[in-house]
Amino acid sequence: MEQACLDWANEWLKTTKKLYINGEWIEGGGAALETVNPANGRTIGAFHGAAKEDVDAAVAAANSAFRTGPWKEMSRKERAKVLHRIADAIRSHHAELATLESLDNGKLYKESFEDDVPECADIFDYYAGWTDKFYGDTCPVEGSYLSYTTREPVGVCGQIVPWNFPLLMACWKLAPALAMGNTVVLKPSSATSLSAIRLFEILHEEAILPPGTINLILGSGSIGTAITKHMDVHKVSFTGSTGVGKQLVHDSADSNLKTVTLELGGKSPNIVFADVPDLDFAVERSFYGLFTHKGEKCSAPTRLLVQESIYDTFVERLARLADSYVCGDPFDPSSDQGAQCTKAHMESILRYIEIGVQEGARVAAGGRRDTEGTNGDGYYVRPTIFADVSNDMRIAQEEIFGPVLVVIPFKDEEEAVRLANDSIYGLAAGVWTNDVSRAHRVANRLEAGMVFVNKYGCYDFASPFGGAKQSGWGKEYAIHSLESYTKVKSIWVKI
Ligand code: NAP
Ligand code: MG
Repeated sequence: MEQACLDWANEWLKTTKKLYINGEWIEGGGAALETVNPANGRTIGAFHGAAKEDVDAAVAAANSAFRTGPWKEMSRKERAKVLHRIADAIRSHHAELATLESLDNGKLYKESFEDDVPECADIFDYYAGWTDKFYGDTCPVEGSYLSYTTREPVGVCGQIVPWNFPLLMACWKLAPALAMGNTVVLKPSSATSLSAIRLFEILHEEAILPPGTINLILGSGSIGTAITKHMDVHKVSFTGSTGVGKQLVHDSADSNLKTVTLELGGKSPNIVFADVPDLDFAVERSFYGLFTHKGEKCSAPTRLLVQESIYDTFVERLARLADSYVCGDPFDPSSDQGAQCTKAHMESILRYIEIGVQEGARVAAGGRRDTEGTNGDGYYVRPTIFADVSNDMRIAQEEIFGPVLVVIPFKDEEEAVRLANDSIYGLAAGVWTNDVSRAHRVANRLEAGMVFVNKYGCYDFASPFGGAKQSGWGKEYAIHSLESYTKVKSIWVKI
């Protein structure tokens, strides 16, 4: 199966990759881009990104589709059917999309196949169910009036996604935006555009959406700016780094004050008290919660805080797991960890490892590039555990976004909460304890958008995903995403 998909992908990669504007494939007029397979460093795709004029054309198409196209006016039942068709189309190209994702991003094929692509399909089904369930209120105003609110689509949504979950992040944004009747201009990361291109091809081949409803722009950060500064884009939803997120807020202010949703970086604390109910499970989750998808996960538990009496045992058991981990070919079922997404990113992770050593942290496992079991060209980094870390070290404060875990000891609850909250980020946090009062007390005191008690990393479309502090503004998933893709209007009628 995988070989057949790889053969298919090799043929597909030979075709020219284009932008998708107003229902047509158009060659980009901008800079030449190439995409690399991180498992071997070889270029697997070259294409032209968009020019500023292409962005103008995509935004114009999305605007015209929004104002005059059938999408917004379609009955909610019909719109739901279309979303279900998108889900089915993704499922019928499951292996193909998973193959492209792993070739381009370097994550294990089993991660793309089992984690990413199924959720891409499921989120369209989930939001299909919401098309007729999200509506306004009547307002209890004084006097002889009827006052009620409506929920309207915001219009043209710019959606900018990163390279760690390329297709999944795109689907997280496309599904709720479309469910509410918006139109979209999507830009994937220039490092990982392939799965989005293929998704748009599939939707085009199956003629699922009216022209102009979704548009695909390829290009690097500067072309992202052309979207975020555009006067006719009404909202931007961004997932990426905190630095670029801040720039985007300026871009909104400098243009048309478009609304902005930001899912940004993290350095999430994971606090393990000595009365943890199941030590084996806590060790496992603390490990796999970070090291799957090669640590390139915004909500990963990267700052592990362990109470002193179990600290040494915990570190030793994590190190054993890390040492047994096999880095290697994403398509080899015996690999545990794939390749970091780009060479520059691998180098940045390796620099952080050097910084950690210079800061005096102890390398309990890993701490280097992995060249064994590969031909030496792949961007593999050994799963790395730093022990004896103090929270003010750079490796404990800055987002590394790779397979690097820092383990910090603490004495008591007070110190654990203080250390956990001593971060510019506030995406997620974990608490492990058998004491139900402490679990709730600590969960309430943690400055984070999501808190996981006795199991780090629980996700469901029905519960909001997103951060506090410099980890972002707004939430994805559930009803919260729909709020961000609609605007409220109040209407008054004199009775
Ligand atoms: P990034 O550099 O901020 O890039 C994200 C996206 O923005 C890419 O498509 C990028 O294009 C584009 N971009 C770059 N500069 C831009 C600009 N000035 N204006 C508009 N768009 C611009 O982030 P990344 O390195 O790809 O992704 C890793 C980061 O994403 C980490 O910080 C991680 O924590 C965060 N993340 C957060 C979440 C969450 O839900 N909170 C989820 C996943 C990832 P190019 O790539 O082509 O430059
Ligand atoms: Mg790539």
